[in-house]
Amino acid sequence: MCIFCKIAKKEIPAKLVLEDDDLVAFHDINAQAPIHVLVIPKQHITGIGEVTDEHVTVLGKLLVAARRIAEDAGLSQSGFRVVVNHGQHAGQTVHHLHVHVLGGRPLAWPPG
Ligand code: ADP
Repeated sequence: MCIFCKIAKKEIPAKLVLEDDDLVAFHDINAQAPIHVLVIPKQHITGIGEVTDEHVTVLGKLLVAARRIAEDAGLSQSGFRVVVNHGQHAGQTVHHLHVHVLGGRPLAWPPG
């Protein structure tokens, strides 16, 4: 079973920040900003490159959760970034769809 499926099933620990029937959010183990939270669907979806119309509802929920996490972390005024990496060139290392929520410092653009 993939590592994020194990986190969703509580088989390995994570610092959870939010959970409902469809998704789980937890602090990234290797934070790249003062706030770095990952939001994942409980359902295993390999990445953004595999989504179809059947995933529309859960994809919307992931983004609404990202907004809520940023707001709860106090990032509404200062700003935050929401990132989804897919595949080799984007540096995806965990092949379970995840939305990064980053903030708490100025974030450079464009990414490297
Ligand atoms: P990258 O590893 O290049 O950031 P991804 O977009 O695939 O690419 O992101 C995977 C993220 O998952 C990384 O930020 C990594 O630190 C995080 N991560 C991996 N394992 C765990 C874990 N057990 N708990 C929390 N975060 C994790």
